[in-house]
This record gives sequence, C-alpha cells and structure tokens, in this order.
Amino acid sequence: MAARPAPYLDDLNPAQRAAVEALDGPVLMLAGAGTGKTKALTTRIAHLLNSGRAWPNEILAVTFTNKAAREMKTRVGRLLGQAVEGVPWLGTFHAICVKLLRRHAELVGLKSSFTILDTDDQIRLLKQLIAAAQIDEKRWPARQLAHIIDGWKNRAWTPANVPASEGTAYNGQGVPLYAAYQERLRTLNAVDFGDLLLHVVTIFQTHEDVLEQYRRRFKYILVDEYQDTNVAQYLWLRLLAQGHRNICCVGDDDQSIYGWRGAEVGNILRFEKDFPGATVVRLEQNYRSTPHILAAASGVIAANKGRLGKTLWTAETEGEKLRLIGHWDGEEEARWIGEEVESLQRGSRGMEPVSLDAMAILVRASHQMRAFEDRFLTIGLPYRVIGGPRFYERMEIRDAMAYFRVATSPEDDLAFERIVNTPKRGLGDKAQQKIQQAARSNGVSLVEGARILLQAKGLGGKGAGELQRLVEGIGRWHGAILDGRQSHIEIAETILEESGYTEMWQNDKTPEAPGRLDNLKELVKALENFDNLQGFLEHVSLVMDNETDAGEEKVSIMTLHAAKGLEFPVVFLPGWEDGLFPSQRSMDESGLKGLEEERRLAYVGITRAEQLCTISFAANRRVFGQWQSALPSRFIDELPEAHVEVLTPPGLYGGGYGAAGMATSASPASVGIGSDLHEKASRADVYNSPGWRRMQSRASERGMSQPRESRNVVIDLEAVSAFSEGDRVFHQKFGYGAVAGIEGDKLEIAFDKAGTKKVVARFVVAAAE
Ligand code: ATP
Ligand code: MG
Repeated sequence: MAARPAPYLDDLNPAQRAAVEALDGPVLMLAGAGTGKTKALTTRIAHLLNSGRAWPNEILAVTFTNKAAREMKTRVGRLLGQAVEGVPWLGTFHAICVKLLRRHAELVGLKSSFTILDTDDQIRLLKQLIAAAQIDEKRWPARQLAHIIDGWKNRAWTPANVPASEGTAYNGQGVPLYAAYQERLRTLNAVDFGDLLLHVVTIFQTHEDVLEQYRRRFKYILVDEYQDTNVAQYLWLRLLAQGHRNICCVGDDDQSIYGWRGAEVGNILRFEKDFPGATVVRLEQNYRSTPHILAAASGVIAANKGRLGKTLWTAETEGEKLRLIGHWDGEEEARWIGEEVESLQRGSRGMEPVSLDAMAILVRASHQMRAFEDRFLTIGLPYRVIGGPRFYERMEIRDAMAYFRVATSPEDDLAFERIVNTPKRGLGDKAQQKIQQAARSNGVSLVEGARILLQAKGLGGKGAGELQRLVEGIGRWHGAILDGRQSHIEIAETILEESGYTEMWQNDKTPEAPGRLDNLKELVKALENFDNLQGFLEHVSLVMDNETDAGEEKVSIMTLHAAKGLEFPVVFLPGWEDGLFPSQRSMDESGLKGLEEERRLAYVGITRAEQLCTISFAANRRVFGQWQSALPSRFIDELPEAHVEVLTPPGLYGGGYGAAGMATSASPASVGIGSDLHEKASRADVYNSPGWRRMQSRASERGMSQPRESRNVVIDLEAVSAFSEGDRVFHQKFGYGAVAGIEGDKLEIAFDKAGTKKVVARFVVAAAE
C-alpha cells in the first residue's frame, strides 16, 4: 500500500522487524523478558496505521494493565510523530469488555447502566444467598464460594455449563448457588469482574450477527502478555480472530504468573494448533538489563522444569552485580531501603543521581507495603503505590464511592446498604429490615422501599427524619446528575457534604480522621480526570493505580504481579523469605506447580531491573501482628554466586547503622526490636539456621567479618523507659507528642494531634525530629 516512510522500523532488530512487517495472518512472538516484545507490538500498531492497513478503531489491542495501555497509546503516537486520535479499542480485557457489554447488555438480560461490583459487594451478596440456603457460613465461607465461582467464570462456564464433575463443589451446593447468584446479579442490574468476559463470550456464542459485526470491525488483533490469558479470554480472542486470522500474540512462558487466577500457559502451545501456519518469532537479545542481572534471573528460572526454554543474551558488558542483603527484621529492611533510595537520589557509589521515578520496590504480598509506606511517610520520601487498588480500598473511599453509586443509580441496593447508616442516622438493624421488607413486598429498590415506608409512616423516632433527608438527598443528587448542568465534581462535593459524610470525619477525634479527610479530598481531585461520575466509577472498578499528581518525582511501590511488563533502572526486591516468597501456600502444596509459579514471579521481579537490583530478606517479620522468624528464600540459593554481591547486613556483621552513627539510642525501629525481642526467634536460632550459615560462609569468602551481636541495634528494655518529662516521642498510632508524666511502665503523653493519653512505654520511641 502507501509507501509512507517508516523510520520506526529502523529501531528494530531483524527478528522484531519480521514480526512487525508480517501484518497478515497469525503471528506468535515467544521470547524472554526485555527482548522488546512490547516494543514490537507497539510498533506493529503504528505500522498498521501508517501503512493504511487499518483505521484506529479497527485495531483491537489487549494489554494487561491500564498503565500499560496508556503507555502503549503514548508510544504509538510518538512513533508516528503525530497525535493519533487514540486507538479506542486499546485496553485491558476488562476495560474492552465493559465497553462491549454496555452496548449489548440487553442480550444477557441487563440494562446498559449495569454496575460493576467490587469484592466486598460480591461477598455480601453471597453471604445473603448462603444464609437463605441455610448453609453454615462458618464451615463453608463465602470467600471460598466466591473463589469457586470466579474459577468457573474464568473457564467461561455459565451455571448451565458447569460440568458434572464439579457437582461436589462447596458441599454440593456450588452450582445451585452460582445460579442463584447470577440471578440475583441480574435483578440488581449488576455484574462482577468475571462476568465482564463471561457475558461477552456468551453474547458472541449465542448471537452470530453480533460476533460477525465485531469480526468485521476488528481487522487486526494484538495481545500482550499472552501467557497470562485464561480460558475465557482465550475463547473470546479465538471467536473474534477466527475469521480473518490477523492475530498477533506476544508472551513469555517464564512470566506466566496468574495460574492461580485461571491463566493457562497451555494457551501458548494451543496457538499454533488453532491458527495453523502461524509465523512464530523468537527474540533473544535483551535490551533492558545488565549482564549480571540477566544471568541472575536466568539462573533462578533454570530451576523450573516445565519450560519451553529459550536463550537470552545482551550486548551490554558493564554493570553491577545483583546485591543481596539480610536484615534483622522487616522494619530495618524498610529503613535500609529508604536510606538507599535517598542516597541513590543524591548520587552515590559513583553513580549519577537517580530520579525517584526510576526506582521501584516490588513486593510479593501487598501487606508488605505498609512498612514501606510508613517508613517513607516518616522520612518524607515521596512514593506512589501502583497496581493495587489500595487507595480505593480504604474505608472512607469505599463509603464515598457508595454514595456516588446510589446517586448515579438509585437502584444500586448494595451501595445503599453500605451508606444507609453511615454516618449514624439511628437506622439500626430493625429499621433496615423494615426498609428491606418494604422494598421486597413492592418489588422495588431499597431507596424506593424507604420512600414507601416513610409515606406509610412505618418508621418512627430520629431515624425517620434522617432517612427522609437521605432519600430526598439521593433524589436531588440523582436529578442533578441527570440534569447535567452542574459539573460532576461539584455534585460529588455536594453529596459528601449534604450526606453528612465529610462532617462525620471532621467530628471524629481519632488520629486517623485527618488522613481520611485528605483521602476524600484526593478522591474529589481524581474526579477531574473524568467527564462524569459514571465514567469515574467505571474506572475505579477497573482501577489499577492512584496516580493523581504526576508532576512530583516518586519512588514506586507495587506488587510483583503489578510490575509485569514494566522496567526501572533501580529495583528493590524485599522479603525474600521462605513462607513469604515463595509463599507458604505454594510450599505446602504437593507438587511443584505453585513453587514454579513463584519462581517465575522471582524471574519477573529480577528482570524488571535495568541497572541495579537488590534482593533482601529479614530474619524476623511481623505478619498480621505476630512475629515470625524466617529463613532466607530458597530462591536465594538459586542465584548464581558469580553474579551476586552479598552486602553487609547492618548490625549483624558489625558496621551498619552503629558505624554510620544512626539509630544508636532510640530510633523507632531499634526500640521496636528490643521491646519485642521476647516474641521473636532468638538470635542464636537465626545464626544457626541453614540460611544464615550460608550467608556467613558467603560473607567470609568475600573477606567480611563474621557476624557478631551488635550492641547498637538491640536496646535493653530498661533503656526504653529512660524517658524524662518533656522528651519528644513518637507513637505508631498517635503520632508525635511530649512526655507529660511517668508512671512505672506507662507514660502520659501530650500528643500533638491526638490529645493526652496514657500509653505503655515500650510502644513509644524517642522522636527523630
Ligand atoms: P517483558 O517481557 O518484560 O514485557 P518485553 O519483551 O516486552 O519485556 P520491552 O519492554 O518491549 O520488552 O523492551 C525492553 C526494553 O528494551 C525497552 O526499554 C525497549 O525500549 C528496549 N528495546 C527493545 N527493542 C529494542 C531494540 N531493537 N533496540 C533498542 N532497544 C530496544
Ligand atoms: Mg512487555
């Protein structure tokens, strides 16, 4: 076709170029991390547009996260050296399916205004159904049922299609409850996450005309991170692609990390069967990481048995070894990383100063994030949490969102249930039951039910007046949204104000209240990026990150799962301990499947790093309030020694914090260690553990001193109570304050924000201010 210049092709190596130029027919690109799969895929989109093969809306491109989708859009624009007016069907499976489902909702018995439930809603609903079926929820938890149902949806099984072999699931009640759940969702005009795909697949399977329409529209289909597609996603792709067969999938079997969510690596192997004659492209040159990092990652993944196997090499020759460091506990680890980040930012170790944006901390489990968040808040290090719906998971955010939801769709009963008595309106269980009854007997939503109940004077006391105000409020807010004259931001502010929700937190005297008010402000700020409330709510249901102020440099914190496909010059991988990484569950499992998936996650983690990668572990960790001692991860043994440098753990090999003149007396972490010592493994236990022995021998091989008890890290309990009146102190929950009195092991403290309180001395530390 048009012989427009295509300078972007010159940036590719021959294999990538072949994959980009093979525009027609099925293409499978199977290659290791950092070999430029995503780059090739992005270039392919640009090339399709530039060569006139397709209009932007004729390209269907699926990425794994919203962040990846955004990045890809920007890059396509850049490659073409012009603003493409977006590629409207470039997004995650979920985002694309929401769009499709809104258009055809009626074909599966929904209205196009359906709401998307979050996990909380899902569980609440299941609990109701479980109770109605008179099943003991304590023995058969709703979460378990939710998990089973998700699994079925991931395989694209509707209640009618679940095979008989699954009949025993959930005490034999799984299938009927699944059917009841789907029915209930339909009456609520709601879907859960799994439904988005399931419904669209169902529509395609039952309405040939609709499928045909999209087969014609999507002339070219592209899929990134193909190794993580589940059966439903695979079916969906196959249905769409089987006409023209212009489908290009890229992936890496070594990075398949969603098996627990139903992803099937087998989809890769099936590709060539389903699309015979596919061009298979292999890429082997890694452009991302230094040789040591690449070798370390390859060393770890080599321990997996079920691999397709591939070669990876880099033209780079320089670079630092992967660094390994052990810490006494999780807090110390967080502190050390905080300091490393700051020193890299200043420019140290002969390196140029590194921007915070270039650094990432990748954790195995989201509960690990808290230690970093807390530490970074304390030292004022800007950070962002990516990938997890953390921000949107907070209570005040969920409440506010529930208000927005009822205002947008007053028939959203689950949202109404959440906020009807928040703030307290004197509407206890009894009153709520009456509302439920009124709604049920009239076959209407809860808001309508409440209205009917009030009219019939079926409710007395303070509650009646308050409910009246709430119902009127919802009517008014809904009216304002429909009317469209007021901006959605103003409407959101009005809702939070008139409902009394903001006020509730303003009157709240707990130390968390100010933070919650800040979060609410942050939420309203986030609205600015959307045209209306519905769009925003949709986004949040699918949300992947909470980046609101892109301007400031920040270090990123995210789970390894969320880091897929991303790259950072500097990466920290904390918490490499058996039981955390690999997870306890994967270790308990019989067979290697779980463990191999964890190992792939380790491979994903290391291969995110471009220049500097630091793995760390702690000997003690507080998990859900309990101290646990831990052994270094078995994956650490698999790191090839020649590519690893073992750093001196602070306090254990001498030197460390004491030598650096820090934390000698009473910084938060060190006192925490001393005070809780009795609950932790003894140091002797740790030193004698095989993991530490290995560390010691590695350290001594490199001429480091043998571990010795450090006087600087552990503080005697007596030292802790050595506060005197007037001392500035810090308390984990109440923040900063001054000692006002001392009574035995208790201190009376005048806190700056939380007022005067008596607290146990060992929970208080001298303020570092
Ligand atoms: P992952 O498996 O982690 O998703 P990937 O295979 O998708 O990795 P990309 O993210 O596309 O890899 O590329 C890794 C890095 O290498 C990027 O910074 C990219 O710009 C760069 N890169 C890719 N191909 C080339 C090339 N031919 N020349 C120079 N740099 C390249
Ligand atoms: Mg990629």
